Amino acid sequence: MISDVMTSRKNHKSKIVNAQSKIIMKYYSLNHNAPNVSFQEAVIKGIAPDKGLYFPETITPLNADFFDTIENLSNEEIAYQAIKQFIGNEIPEIILKEIIAETLCFDFPVIEVEKDIYALELFHGPTMAFKDVGARFMSRCLGYFNKEKKDSKNTVLVATSGDTGGAVASGFLGVKGVEVIILYPSGKVSDIQERQLTTLGQNITALEVDGVFDDCQDMVKKAFLDIDLKNKNLTSANSINIARWLPQMFYFFYAYKALKKENKPLIYSCPSGNFGNICAGIIAKKMGLPIEHFVASTNVNDTVPRFLEKGIYDPKPSKATISNAMDVGNPSNFIRIQEMYQNDLEQFKKDFSSFTFSDEETLEAMKTIYNTNGYIAEPHGAVGYLGLKKELQNHKNAIGIFLETAHPIKFLHTVEPTLNVKLPIPTQIESVLNKEKVSIKIKTYEHLKTFLIQ
Ligand SMILES: *Cc1c(COP(=O)(O)O)cnc(C)c1O
Repeated sequence: MISDVMTSRKNHKSKIVNAQSKIIMKYYSLNHNAPNVSFQEAVIKGIAPDKGLYFPETITPLNADFFDTIENLSNEEIAYQAIKQFIGNEIPEIILKEIIAETLCFDFPVIEVEKDIYALELFHGPTMAFKDVGARFMSRCLGYFNKEKKDSKNTVLVATSGDTGGAVASGFLGVKGVEVIILYPSGKVSDIQERQLTTLGQNITALEVDGVFDDCQDMVKKAFLDIDLKNKNLTSANSINIARWLPQMFYFFYAYKALKKENKPLIYSCPSGNFGNICAGIIAKKMGLPIEHFVASTNVNDTVPRFLEKGIYDPKPSKATISNAMDVGNPSNFIRIQEMYQNDLEQFKKDFSSFTFSDEETLEAMKTIYNTNGYIAEPHGAVGYLGLKKELQNHKNAIGIFLETAHPIKFLHTVEPTLNVKLPIPTQIESVLNKEKVSIKIKTYEHLKTFLIQ
């Protein structure tokens, strides 16, 4: 029931009084067959024992005051106000503020691309992908929880097809008590991506798998279920983990802060793969952020657009595209979105549209954006732009924002020939290009297991 999720502020307050000193935010499993857990436990476990995703018991709207004065708040203050209810006092205020400051050590500019259309650039972090924010926040939360338990350490195991691995490697670098093991398919990631994974050292190990991404993913799944590895405290660092997923809500507040003065309804379009980013946006709306409408823009992996059209959720194996971070056939966070709409499709469609675009349309959009406006979008951002243009036809007086989720340099093999441009190499990328690759080659699950047990 929606009333369970949206506890009123009054109820929330009485809860605080009853709980007195320790306010524990609780998370329940969306499979409803596992005990509720604290923020800490949800972060450490990643996924519930019944294989369900964790979801917060309550989402409390922020004060009107917060929205009235948002333009006077720093990004860090906005992030703190937005996230604190999901953590309770499991992390002390002063430490949470430190974690946020370290997470948000770069800008989130809103760039006007054409009249009433803006790009929200999320790629100015250390690995130039929007996943930097979630990875940095999660790593520091895990590091904090490990400080309290001096005798144990956690191992983060992650399979990557490219961008996730780099953001996780950079985000967790040097975090005490956390070992990170990244599996990537040999020869199937770009040179820049490979260097971002394999050149850091310290607590980061790259395992180069003789196979494709699905082989890496299968090995990771097997390891999580392997009882011989129970005492290894394995956790996952993809967007099923609440500490990687929830901080993405910040972006939606930042675009509002930048565009509030225009005083027009806001439409957000997210290039979507696992639907973690857009799901965090919907939470921001539940917290009172005035968002008129969401667009989930996808490539030809169109499970959600088909669902909205036909009302049947029918996942298909993923197809390879030029916007490869969105090549997902069964988006793992969609179940969280359905939870927020209580599976009420009609209500959901009032707030949310989803459109699918081919690679040809994406390349055309990149050219249009560049030729008419001089803005260089990479394929994911271009898919977001296309969905936004389509939806804006239904909202004459609105402002549209598309999330630009990666720097064009990360997709230079598509961007340069399509736009006939030469991209300068940003310093973040330059710094890994001349470092030496170190990886351990593995072929089978047994190799991974032996490595984990040693
Ligand atoms: C991961 C990723 C996406 C998709 O984000 P989701 O939260 O999984 O929907 C889009 N663009 C880029 C560049 C990404 O790396």
